[in-house]
Parts: sequence; structure tokens; C-alpha cells
Amino acid sequence: MAFCSNCGASVPDGAGFCVECGAPMARDAVPSSARQVSHHAPSTGYTPPAQEAYHSEAPRDVLGVGAYVGFFLLMMVPLVGLIFAIVWACGARNPNLKNLSRAYLILTLISIVLSICLFVALSALFSQLTSVSGLSVLSCLMQP
Ligand SMILES: [Zn+2]
Repeated sequence: MAFCSNCGASVPDGAGFCVECGAPMARDAVPSSARQVSHHAPSTGYTPPAQEAYHSEAPRDVLGVGAYVGFFLLMMVPLVGLIFAIVWACGARNPNLKNLSRAYLILTLISIVLSICLFVALSALFSQLTSVSGLSVLSCLMQP
């Protein structure tokens, strides 16, 4: 059992970061109070809170590979996936999940707009082709 040089909490051996404050742990951390004091003394007044917050927040917010796979599998379900994406985009606690859902919704919107454009273009082309072929059929019938 090692002790954090920043806050003094007990940390499991081999842990890279303190479980209490998120401060990086020395590889050869030993539970010696002298070492703790010598580490603490020079850093008084210089404890970057932003870095500590980053270290303690980051591991909980990261989505694993399984979460991404599960998300995209869920999005394959036609209506349920869309509902989940909207719900998560509005109020997911995990910022990564929120951003992922928003990105998915934007992509879905783009693909819907593109498919509508494609449909309009194809139907216009199709009607043009049928009118041309109809004319050619009519001209063939007119000629004896
Ligand atoms: Zn600590």
C-alpha cells in the first residue's frame, strides 16, 4: 500500500494516479512520511486545480469500445435508435455520449437532406426520360 504525495490518501500498489485527488503517483512510491513532507514542502501554493480535475474526471467520462459498438448497434434500430439519440443529445450525463449523439443526429440530418435531393433529382430525370420515350413511341406510331 502506497500513499499519495499530494493528499496523503492510501493508494493501491502499482496505481498510476491517486484515487482521491488524481495526482500522478511515483513508480517507486513508498509509505514514508519523510518523503511525503519533502514532496509537499516545495509545492505549497502551487497545486493546479484544473489538472487535478482533469485527472479525476477523465477516466469516468471516457466511453469504451463496447459503448461505441453498442451505440452504433442501437442506432441501426430504425426508430428506437433515433429516439435514444435525441434523448442523449439533450440530456446525457456523459459529455462524450452527448457529443456522440449530437454528431450522429447531424449526420442523420445530412443524409436525409441528401437522399431527398437525390430522390427529387432522380424523379425529375425519370419523368424526363418517360416523356422522351413517350414522344418517341408516339412518333413511331404516327409513322406508317
Ligand atoms: Zn491524492
